[in-house]
Amino acid sequence: MLDEYRQHQRARAAAGLVPKPLNADQVRALTDLLQNPLSADDEALLYDLLVNRVPPGVDEAAEVKASFLAAIAHGELACARINKLQAITLLGTMAGGYNLPPLIAALDDNELASTAVTALANTLLIFDYFQPIADKATAKNPYAMQVLHAWAAGDWFLSRPAVAEKITLTVFKVAGETNTDDLSPAQDVWSRPDIPLHALTMLKNPREGIIADKPGEIGPMRQIASLKENGYPLAFVGDTVGTGSSRKSATNSLLWLMGEDIPWIPNKRRGGVVLAGKIAPIFFNTLQDAGALPIEADISSLQMGDIIDIYPIRGEIRAHHNDELLARFTLKTEGMLDEVRAGGRIALIIGRALTAKARQALNLPPSMLFHSPQTAVVSSQGFTQAQKIMGRACGVEGVRPGSWCEPKITSIGSPDTSGPLTRDELKDLACLHFSADLVMQSFCHTAAYPEQIDVATHQTLADFMRQRGGIALRPGDGVIHSWLNRMLLPDTVGTGGDSHTRFPVGLSLPAGSGLVAFAAATGVMPLDMPESVRVRFHGELQPGITLRDLVHAIPWYACQNGLLTLEKRGKVNVFSGRIIEIEGLEHLSVEQAFELTAATAERSAAGCTIALSEASVITNMQSNVALLKGLIADGYGDRNTLERRIRKMEAWLASPKLLVADADAQYAATLDIDLNSLCEPLLCAPDDPDDVRPLSALSGVSIDEVFIGSCMTRVSHYRATGELLRGHKGQLPARLWLTPPTRMDANKLREEGWFSVFGQRGGRIEIPGCSLCMGNQARVANNATVVSTSTRNFPNRLGNGAHVYLASAEVAAICARLGRLPTKEEYFAAVASLVSCERP
Ligand code: SF4
Repeated sequence: MLDEYRQHQRARAAAGLVPKPLNADQVRALTDLLQNPLSADDEALLYDLLVNRVPPGVDEAAEVKASFLAAIAHGELACARINKLQAITLLGTMAGGYNLPPLIAALDDNELASTAVTALANTLLIFDYFQPIADKATAKNPYAMQVLHAWAAGDWFLSRPAVAEKITLTVFKVAGETNTDDLSPAQDVWSRPDIPLHALTMLKNPREGIIADKPGEIGPMRQIASLKENGYPLAFVGDTVGTGSSRKSATNSLLWLMGEDIPWIPNKRRGGVVLAGKIAPIFFNTLQDAGALPIEADISSLQMGDIIDIYPIRGEIRAHHNDELLARFTLKTEGMLDEVRAGGRIALIIGRALTAKARQALNLPPSMLFHSPQTAVVSSQGFTQAQKIMGRACGVEGVRPGSWCEPKITSIGSPDTSGPLTRDELKDLACLHFSADLVMQSFCHTAAYPEQIDVATHQTLADFMRQRGGIALRPGDGVIHSWLNRMLLPDTVGTGGDSHTRFPVGLSLPAGSGLVAFAAATGVMPLDMPESVRVRFHGELQPGITLRDLVHAIPWYACQNGLLTLEKRGKVNVFSGRIIEIEGLEHLSVEQAFELTAATAERSAAGCTIALSEASVITNMQSNVALLKGLIADGYGDRNTLERRIRKMEAWLASPKLLVADADAQYAATLDIDLNSLCEPLLCAPDDPDDVRPLSALSGVSIDEVFIGSCMTRVSHYRATGELLRGHKGQLPARLWLTPPTRMDANKLREEGWFSVFGQRGGRIEIPGCSLCMGNQARVANNATVVSTSTRNFPNRLGNGAHVYLASAEVAAICARLGRLPTKEEYFAAVASLVSCERP
């Protein structure tokens, strides 16, 4: 075992990496070896591995470590290197989960109890084990009482250093916009769970001021190392940071390169500082959860390599060498300093709840140790639809913007891209069973062209989720949202690890994998209730205008009204971090509504609601009950979770009623869109989904490839595509990719003969899933000009150097036929006779 480990250590070091954490087999071998006579070197290495290289919580390796240490503590095993008290101390470094039963048992052992008190006092992931300790305290166990008092006093918090008054850092500046794909490229999704390895790809693509070690493969590792040589940690500085997907891996990479080690936890870091003119809301929260300090400030006077002093409490950034004031800022909340001190927002929430529970058990008043969560100004005004939905999840009538709340989370989606990370976070949180009502795992991003590691993930992740009561889809079933949307309950709150988790019924606030794991494990999620922006559609939809055009109309009209700007430096975006509430399209089906709600991810909105008619939701819910029953019949699990959800859907159908906004509800802004004025298709030009242009301004642009797919599409889009292509003889001039979102859609299209229409013209039909939308597997040709129905057109997403226009399926199909963007006249002539054209 040691030879193999040393070999692994050398191979990783040669690649600039620390070794991987130990797995359960390695820990088993290690604990066997430790019970035998060893050389001093071997013993020192084995001890260090046991202490520092085993993942915590309910990882399988942690289980082996905990039972080994428990056996030593209870005198069942002898180990020359570790005595009984050391075993208890080491159990106290394992964060929660498998270490708790032996620690609690040690409270009854006079020899071990004091050490166990210290260990438990600094453990936060106690959850169901609180009661056994409280019961011991009630039964007059003095050590259990000491544990309760330590939690009540917040020793776990006080033992950590407060945030320094002054933090000296070196600036690592990335000018312009840094999206999460820049930090964690989609093509490298397979390496995300190996945080040090994945971090090598951060900023691997060439851009101004960044010197990649190996462009396209390895990011600016040497540049980062040389900046660190002055002895100060780095601050990540940018104009706009963290737009795009919700991927926690982006935070992981950034913190791995710029954060600080976590004692006893292998290959994870926390802390770190991000300074930016604008930080995308989900990324901001992910940083908070990971114990980093995100600060929004004017960073225009900060340059790469500058040494700066940050004064978090005073809200100032000064030049280190002459104390010149460079910028002022205000922290988003005062509680952020508590979060950093606690090791992250999630740690603070869990710890604060533990302190509150201990004080309650001891009949003590609430603790004054922490900054109070924010409360909103009292108002007699009505509530918006989102505020009412949130209120219902919190057990009140409505939640005002600016209030801290912890809504009950009813539905959660975990995509395969972040699923392995969520699994690691769930193990860290010592979660053996989900408290959230429904957690669903998909395999839509990796099913089409899986690597070996993906195939293993498909099996192990599905089992992991089902064992905890989750529902696991199968590879090839299709896109996460097209499925999760069919499992929702009206007027409930949910979340998901994919930034397009934006429910068409109810309200979803997508999050990074850490927060998703927290919501799944505890059934609640922390939230500062965002403000709302209302988008109101009026008037008559004009012939030939599609729902996708309405999606693009939102940024188009917002730009015209000064609510959104394209410039990244000092960007205006009224939607950023707010909930978009859409009205005026109540007749849409739930499936159609998702096209609008999903695209609010591109607006950097925190979430979205859409007002729909009860008739639409009833129709949807009835068919969803049938779908879930079919899943049970087909052997999908967890069966109990599916049955419970069916019962809840049927209960809603028995008395259907939807929450609606009050007439006097208040919004941060209202955007009115007159459908009468929308007379031609709208497209998003490369490389910005906010850069909307009418078709007539782009006609004639030559198109190499066309992608019709993603969760933005429905079966009707493929029927319309088939109709538009049927008149074309021979092969299409543009390469056409088609990816139906679900296997049910694919089956329907095959049965209706459309696959033959596509295939005969050279169309490439992919298995249901994300396909080019994610761009992590198949890719368009380098530098191709593409028309796509997918969600976003960020640089390099669909292919290296690709120029991507986002458009409706109808525009895309015509482009495939012509090899260029049509004129307005060509477009309307082509769609005039469509039978399958969906009238939104
Ligand atoms: S289709 Fe695209 S937007 Fe939708 S879940 Fe997949 S990658 Fe995300």
